[in-house]
Amino acid sequence: MRKLKVGIIGATGMVGQRFITLLANHPYFEIAALAAGPRSAGRSYREAVAGRWKLSCECPGWVLDMPVLDAADVAAVGRLVDFVFCAVNLPKSETRALEELYARQEIPVVSNNSANRWTPDVPMLIPEVNPEHAEVIAAQRARLGTKRGFIAVKPNCSIQGYVGALTPLRKYGIEKIAVTTYQAISGAGRTFSDWEEMTDNIIPYISGEEEKSEREPLRVWGELDSEGREIVPSEEPVISAQCLRVPVSDGHMAAVFVKFREKPTEEEIKAAWRDFTPLPQKLQLPSAPEHFITYFEQPDRPQTRLDRGIYSGMGISVGRLREDKIFDYRFVALAHNTLRGAAGGAVLMAEFLVSRGYLTPVD
Ligand code: NAP
Repeated sequence: MRKLKVGIIGATGMVGQRFITLLANHPYFEIAALAAGPRSAGRSYREAVAGRWKLSCECPGWVLDMPVLDAADVAAVGRLVDFVFCAVNLPKSETRALEELYARQEIPVVSNNSANRWTPDVPMLIPEVNPEHAEVIAAQRARLGTKRGFIAVKPNCSIQGYVGALTPLRKYGIEKIAVTTYQAISGAGRTFSDWEEMTDNIIPYISGEEEKSEREPLRVWGELDSEGREIVPSEEPVISAQCLRVPVSDGHMAAVFVKFREKPTEEEIKAAWRDFTPLPQKLQLPSAPEHFITYFEQPDRPQTRLDRGIYSGMGISVGRLREDKIFDYRFVALAHNTLRGAAGGAVLMAEFLVSRGYLTPVD
């Protein structure tokens, strides 16, 4: 099969820049179109990101010479691509409309945005956790009246670490979770040079984040209904979340407390993490980390700066598992927010959707 031609909608933003570095030399995909909003459309990518390139690695030279198209010009983008990745900072209703416009024009959308995360027939995928949810795409295509077009989304970056770590423990019946997230500034599309307030500071509020952190795991852990029409969210566990912005460039840490119906031993928990081999690893997808979950025995690990890059930023690092006086256990979990939590997670999702025949080249 030839490489699939991809468009990046929101190519000039922080997540868009990550997409470019991840896709510049990808075995399944090639960058065929870049698109953004009115500020950047009509310029070269070089002009559009001048003074706004936020990553420590460089942008490939051939990408700098590409034109930035207007994301609203679906026909112009659609002529060049087999599907698009989307990461834009628009109001939800506009993002939803934009994504649906692409899908209805038979251009599949793999999205980082939150706008369609609760659309009942849109799968919200972490390929290691709920790959079977992709089956709902058939119902979505029937609703949209499309043959190829659909939308698939990834969940919020805040939940990646603890949902990943808790998934292999669901067999013990998770009743309650209390979690505090310590979230990096890149999660807001920012760096220290453009967010002075974050030096030597913690901001105990991230708009909308606690609600996402409490609700999205339930949809990810939900099930396809018997007719295959929608994803029905799970009713438990109860989740209580606090989300803090901390002075870290990349990497969201979560401090997790968990109560089970049938309390496992510490050894059983560690074995469940060690032995967990989900589908992307079995399929050996290019962006799948060799081990999804890595447990650190050292008492001061994982640390954001040392461990966020594990398996190219796609692994989940876990540590400090111990019994708790109120819940059963507590531990910490770390995930890279713009790699596993954003662009990398979306690229892995797209690789998985290729493996299942949902993303194909236009004839
Ligand atoms: P960002 O750095 O602010 O970039 C936003 C992008 O949206 C830019 O490319 C911008 O293009 C484009 N845009 C603005 N108006 C537009 C329009 N009318 N039509 C099309 N594109 C338009 O934001 P970000 O951090 O990359 O986040 C993008 C999305 O990903 C958000 O929904 C965010 O919630 C989500 N996300 C982010 C993270 C993270 O860690 N940063 C993690 C998970 C999910 P211009 O150059 O024209 O302004």
